[in-house]
Amino acid sequence: MNIAKVVVDVPASQTNRIFDYLIPDQLVDSIEIGMRVIVPFGPRKIMGFVLELTDHSDFSALKEIEELMDVTPVLTEELIDLGKWLSEKTLSFYVSAFQAMLPQALKAKYNKELQRMSDQLPETLTHIFAGRDFIDYSEYVSRNGNIAQLQRAIKEGLVEVNYIVQSKETFKQMTMIQANKEPIELEEVYADMPSQAKKQKQLLYHFIEHPEAISKKELLSSHSTGASTLKQLLNRGLLKQFKQELYRNPYKEDKYPQTTALTLSDQQQQAITPIHESVNEDTHEVFLLHGVTGSGKTEVYLQSIQSVIDKGKEAIVLVPEIALTPQMVQRFKGRFGSRVAVLHSALSAGEKFDEWRKVQRKQVQVVVGARSAIFAPFENLGIIIIDEEHETSYKQEDHPRYHARDVAIYRGGKYNCPVILGSATPTLESFARAQKGVYQLLSMSERMNKAAMPTVKLVDMRDELHAGNRSMFSRQLKEDIEERLKRKEQIVLFLNRRGYSTFVMCRDCGYVINCPHCDIALTYHRNTENLKCHYCGHDEKMPSLCPSCQSDTIRFFGTGTQKVEEAITKILPEARVIRMDVDTTRRKGSHEKLLDKFANHEADILLGTQMIAKGLDFANVTLVGVLAADSLLHLPDFRAAEKTFQLLTQVSGRAGRHSLPGEVVIQTYTPEHYSVQLASQYDFEQFFLKEMHTRKTFQYPPYVFLTLITVSHPNQIKAAKVTKKITQLLRKYLSSQTNILGPTPSPLTRIKDRYRYQCMVKYKKEPNQQKVIQKILSFYEDDIKKNQLMINVDLQPYQLM
Ligand code: ADP
Ligand code: ZN
Ligand code: ZN
Repeated sequence: MNIAKVVVDVPASQTNRIFDYLIPDQLVDSIEIGMRVIVPFGPRKIMGFVLELTDHSDFSALKEIEELMDVTPVLTEELIDLGKWLSEKTLSFYVSAFQAMLPQALKAKYNKELQRMSDQLPETLTHIFAGRDFIDYSEYVSRNGNIAQLQRAIKEGLVEVNYIVQSKETFKQMTMIQANKEPIELEEVYADMPSQAKKQKQLLYHFIEHPEAISKKELLSSHSTGASTLKQLLNRGLLKQFKQELYRNPYKEDKYPQTTALTLSDQQQQAITPIHESVNEDTHEVFLLHGVTGSGKTEVYLQSIQSVIDKGKEAIVLVPEIALTPQMVQRFKGRFGSRVAVLHSALSAGEKFDEWRKVQRKQVQVVVGARSAIFAPFENLGIIIIDEEHETSYKQEDHPRYHARDVAIYRGGKYNCPVILGSATPTLESFARAQKGVYQLLSMSERMNKAAMPTVKLVDMRDELHAGNRSMFSRQLKEDIEERLKRKEQIVLFLNRRGYSTFVMCRDCGYVINCPHCDIALTYHRNTENLKCHYCGHDEKMPSLCPSCQSDTIRFFGTGTQKVEEAITKILPEARVIRMDVDTTRRKGSHEKLLDKFANHEADILLGTQMIAKGLDFANVTLVGVLAADSLLHLPDFRAAEKTFQLLTQVSGRAGRHSLPGEVVIQTYTPEHYSVQLASQYDFEQFFLKEMHTRKTFQYPPYVFLTLITVSHPNQIKAAKVTKKITQLLRKYLSSQTNILGPTPSPLTRIKDRYRYQCMVKYKKEPNQQKVIQKILSFYEDDIKKNQLMINVDLQPYQLM
């Protein structure tokens, strides 16, 4: 075997194939499939993945592999197969698919360097090289070096470009910093420090609060300070520094009290039996575990995993990024201890890499993680679990645009093992499949110990306005909060502000302006004062009076958490509030800290966005308030009603999970909307039927498949023209039953100075689609490479902006 088939790290369509390379003698014994190598490619040296080893090539004059980047393969053969499948399925490059499976730390980084090949350089170049033989390309750029001139010099052989591949893996050593004195002593020093030494004081304060070791890098970056400040503290002997050979272990086992299997309830027993069967008989089966919030789905997961581990096999558990809270980690670590690796995006690249290596070395049997954990390099998978399967964060919005659910089912098929999709509010797609028998439905319709679902009160905010209450709190909600404050119980207030709030609504009667053809809220465009449908292109003037009631209070909609916090402080000054949103949780660990504070009852009200909607479980929370239920409802997205239903159900599930009964107050301008109504009654089945009907009428998934093509370019006319042409080509080459909508401006019409247009394909069966789109993409390849054109193809899109 002296020939390797390699995919190179050049994401472009001409290079999206396998290249043959000769394996030099000294590497023949050590090279393995799935390793990364460095190969010559044109004038440069780049990274590549070895996909096959063979002794035959149809090409002559092969180049030699330069070196190996890995000692052990980073991709298993199964993952290589998966990567090929993924790239075909999502129309992305092989190399992008393989990269997506690996932790950040293994992604190769290139440094370009310029090498002087002659003494006779043009004057400006001589000046920049300043007598050196090598300079960084970035230096050339930063000194305003002229690119065209450089290109000429390269052509004439005066300068060469070298590509240096750098591996970013960082498992060698790490500099750690630790307190060198007792906190009390540090406090004394701190008190004596002059107030000008602000940065020093800040660092010192960190160690008063956290005397334990922290990596130098993390310390400096989290306090945005330089090494010199730190050095002064080290020199004074207040802190000490040491090197550590690392497995960073962000989830220390001793932090997690061990738990044992609970005796299952009857409904849990019923749900788990078919799963155990599938595990025992090694059959691939997709289960949809539809269980109301608090029904004990997690215990079913845990015991299923236990039976998999007992068989000597491995388990992957996916939870949405925002639900991967310390509480969630505790449940898995508590049961399986050091057999669990956690892959969470809040970990540093190094920490993630260490967790990943535990999987690679088979030192763990369970992985709990967000979307990309689906690629965990296990080789003896026994179960894959996707919790909250309806979450859209399981769809990756970058290349490769995969959905973790599809990957899970594909891998489950390879390993003949069960896949469990769990949710209180499954997607319409999944539930429809379960109804057709493609998935096996497992239902848990009652909460543990028959605890009641919290009662839901819908408050019509139009009535509040009419009664002269212009605040964002209804009288009902205010009263209920006051009552909880008196009883020393806690409150969760939820404000949804995902996406953006550009729908237009009448404050008086709740009327929302919809597209007459698509049943979707029109989007307000500030610059033109127009309302537009981004699906079909329909557009109309923004009215000055409500078309329904003639009131002049019609306007677009939106508010932020900070405003809400201010409002609470004004009307309920005695309430202690913790605000949790992207702003207050930016710093590492702050999420955990805020939740701990709330759990310790250091605050009465937890106010937040999406990130508090799920996974949280506080015994003392008896009231959940939803401030504006409508803000999701009118997003320009055919899934708006579904998302609203899901969110309201999830949020309501946060209340009354333990002995104290819970109550939910939902404020809305459209209490009559079926998604609000049915969520308040916890009636998923009815919602499913109703929503399926709408989808059928307007031809949306699951009745059809969608493909969204988004074209963007700095020049608006160019973007529009290309989109129009693509639409024409699609109409010509796809079947006549397929419906092609567009071209129309995207709802986000301009991002980063690029104009965006889109076209949507709605189809039932379109076996040629991939090929046709591939052709279109290669037709525009030149424009894409040289002319700043971008064409994004999203098969089964979840984000329609
Ligand atoms: P879900 O994930 O369906 O929302 P959870 O798994 O959070 O529900 O379960 C709700 C509560 O019931 C949790 O506090 C959990 O510890 C408890 N629980 C689950 N199963 C059992 C059981 N078999 N016996 C006793 N308590 C249980
Ligand atoms: Zn429309
Ligand atoms: Zn009105």
